[in-house]
Amino acid sequence: MRYTTQFLLSALSAAQFPAPTVPEIAFLGRSNVGKSSLLNALVGDKAAKVSSTPGRTRAINFFLVSDEKRAPRNILADLPGYGYAKISKSISAEWPKFIEPYLAERPTLSLCICLVDSNIPPQESDRTLIEWLRAANRSFAVVATKIDRLSGNVRTKNLAALKKELELNEVLAVSAKTKQGMGELWSRIETAKTDQL
Ligand code: GDP
Repeated sequence: MRYTTQFLLSALSAAQFPAPTVPEIAFLGRSNVGKSSLLNALVGDKAAKVSSTPGRTRAINFFLVSDEKRAPRNILADLPGYGYAKISKSISAEWPKFIEPYLAERPTLSLCICLVDSNIPPQESDRTLIEWLRAANRSFAVVATKIDRLSGNVRTKNLAALKKELELNEVLAVSAKTKQGMGELWSRIETAKTDQL
């Protein structure tokens, strides 16, 4: 990997967010979707382990990606996983109060990576999140996790179902285990831009 990633901080309120200086990429998904594993694969074990430290699972954990010359390039924001419970009125009643304003207002948020499990049918909570992001005019990319568990027809069928039910043109299939799709995911992250900077 050309870039280095380091843990920046865990925020439990907007006051604790890092200064908005570089394009930020947020990672979202239901609990158990494979978010920690994906972040491990992207940024290295040590950095992502922080996110699963007790007390930090309800925080937004920020990581700084720097280039070869140590210049800050991007911030990755690991958001708390949302639950299995139905997401209704707001994105999720279980989510800490500052998450929705973060998604709505963070000036440097340039891309939301929405993780969905390729092994299960499209979930209502994922659909609600995606609809919310569309309404808020946020750029997002849907990434289907754990693709190594599927092959052949089932893989094709499940990815088609996700596309259809979540009304998407594109789903990027990845595996933290085999690293399939990880290069493409990095490219999406690197090219994420924000007009706020
Ligand atoms: P999180 O709750 O979203 O952070 O999910 P985790 O990263 O903890 O993963 C949940 C479960 O799915 C764990 O048992 C992981 O080992 C498994 N898992 C995550 N990513 C993959 C993957 O790419 N392939 C396979 N086969 N299993 C995965």
